[in-house]
Amino acid sequence: MTRATSASPGVVVGLDIGGTSTNATVLDGAGRFLVEDLCETPSRVLAGPDATLDALAQALGGVLALTGVPVTEVLAVGLDTPGPASADGVISSRGATNFSQPEWRGYDIRGALTERLGLPVVYTNDANAAALYAHHRHFGAQADRRSSIAAIVGTGLGGGVVESGRVVQGAVGMAGELGHVQIPMHGLIAEDQPLPFCNCGFVGDAESVASLTGIVNNLLPYWLTRYPDHPLASVTPIQAAAMKVRGLAESGDELALAVFEQQAAALGRLFTIAANFTDPHAYFLGGGVVEAAPHFRSWFLDRVRTHSQLRDEQLKVATFELVPDRDMAGARGAAIAARDAREAVQ
Ligand SMILES: [Zn+2]
Repeated sequence: MTRATSASPGVVVGLDIGGTSTNATVLDGAGRFLVEDLCETPSRVLAGPDATLDALAQALGGVLALTGVPVTEVLAVGLDTPGPASADGVISSRGATNFSQPEWRGYDIRGALTERLGLPVVYTNDANAAALYAHHRHFGAQADRRSSIAAIVGTGLGGGVVESGRVVQGAVGMAGELGHVQIPMHGLIAEDQPLPFCNCGFVGDAESVASLTGIVNNLLPYWLTRYPDHPLASVTPIQAAAMKVRGLAESGDELALAVFEQQAAALGRLFTIAANFTDPHAYFLGGGVVEAAPHFRSWFLDRVRTHSQLRDEQLKVATFELVPDRDMAGARGAAIAARDAREAVQ
């Protein structure tokens, strides 16, 4: 398949909804993104589903006006949102952090947008979209012959597994929930450190360490007992203290570096499981760390690589990279997913 270079008529649009804004992009038939930068409009998620659908329609109109593409050339729309949601875009009935109003619970956002726009809409969760974009950006024309895994560290730990250029979705869309993969804790936590817990109910999964929630619930409470005179000990609430940890790590603070060393170890153990599970060509790391100071993100990626135990044969082909273009990865990955879904049915 030479889809990256063969021009075909029509475009797909990617729409990435966040808590406050929607970013839009356009992918043409030759595999080129027609929007270089962010194309953001308010997402209006807090105003509920109707306002959000209006805002998405405006985002679509806006990006088409920007690129001069008539709506008649749009073959499909790729939509991505933060989770949790089903594989076909039904927001979790238990609610989701960014979709907190009761009207959102169990809401079929993909179906509603399909009806609103009169266009096919393909749904992807935001971590899967970022994984797909990182994969295609890294491998280009080779993407369909390569596999990768992406861990996206944020409030939680999201991710995606890409095999032969496609996101592995699983039976009910729960493949690639990397945060809830349990990892060995022996040698990762200190001898007197309590076992870290996750909001999902597991103890010692990857998210219980490698996420902002893990820092708040598990890492900072322990490390502050080791550094009782640390300035963060007087910062409340603990969420506020956790938000400062990365900045401190960038400037070499011992406590903060201990926290990130444990996160790197957790991610390395997760990638070690991946190495024995799907044996990917590439290991991508995304989320807030991508925006960190260059010396710190290089250190962190290097620590993750060091903690990943690959076999000699794997080390010869594997690459470790940061997810590029963090702010645009969601919309671009959603657009790629929409293009792929169209190709699959043709
Ligand atoms: Zn969990």
